Amino acid sequence: MDEALQEKLAQLRGIVGKMKRGVFFGGAGVSTESGIPDFRSQDGLYRQKYAYPPEYILSRTFFDRHTAEFFDFYRDKMLALDAQPNAAHKKLAQWEAEGKLAAVVTQNIDGLHQKAGSRAVYELHGSVLRNFCMACGKSYPVEAVAASAGVPRCSCGGVIKPDVVLYEEPLDQRVLEGAIARIRAADVLIVGGTSLNVYPAAGLIDFFEGDALVVVNRGAPARAVEGALYIDGKIGEVFSAL
Ligand code: NAD
Repeated sequence: MDEALQEKLAQLRGIVGKMKRGVFFGGAGVSTESGIPDFRSQDGLYRQKYAYPPEYILSRTFFDRHTAEFFDFYRDKMLALDAQPNAAHKKLAQWEAEGKLAAVVTQNIDGLHQKAGSRAVYELHGSVLRNFCMACGKSYPVEAVAASAGVPRCSCGGVIKPDVVLYEEPLDQRVLEGAIARIRAADVLIVGGTSLNVYPAAGLIDFFEGDALVVVNRGAPARAVEGALYIDGKIGEVFSAL
């Protein structure tokens, strides 16, 4: 490990040592070390070839017009039921248990933060683990969607929709407000594993008014995060070294 990185890790250790109401804001890069591909990395989903661009497949328009094709893609690419939390998820759960971290705000839909033991998790884009019939509202486990073929149907005949926020759909207002309140009250904000390309989620970090801002990401995010301590690296490896 080079000296500059050692120095930054020492700074981050100091920040975490004093942290009292930290918030972690993360994205798909947090789960790549658990084997779930992100969207915009070299081997991310957006670099692979599909009949339609993934941004379109994951839109509400596509879901409504091509529901069976949506679910083919979704079951194949978005569900990773065997994935396990990695060192980053586990460290965040540990910080919460120690009273240092107030919340995880995530764009991920994989449920791995909760699987690692985190409780205060704001899922801006929902979760693959929750699924509801669009006609009667009956709830279904993810296994029912994973095991289905074609369009998953409720016993009433309605379409079962995952509780994930598709492009063109609004974010859940209560989740959004909760996340903003936690970020506003935070003394430390650690941003990690996100390209900061997806709005309104990426704009939430602007609500931070605390003391120390940290970015841990492989490659620089799309938008500049002014005043941040920036560590270019794999988040599981970086957090393991703390
Ligand atoms: P993104 O794919 O746009 O960006 C991921 C970022 O993480 C990139 O900058 C990449 O270089 C970095 N990264 C990848 N692996 C990393 C690692 N091990 N350590 C540190 N950095 C790493 O993802 P995004 O910003 O979250 O936005 C895309 C959208 O994709 C989100 O809305 C999210 O809902 C969705 N998504 C979620 C999952 C999931 O739930 N696991 C997976 C794919 C996409």
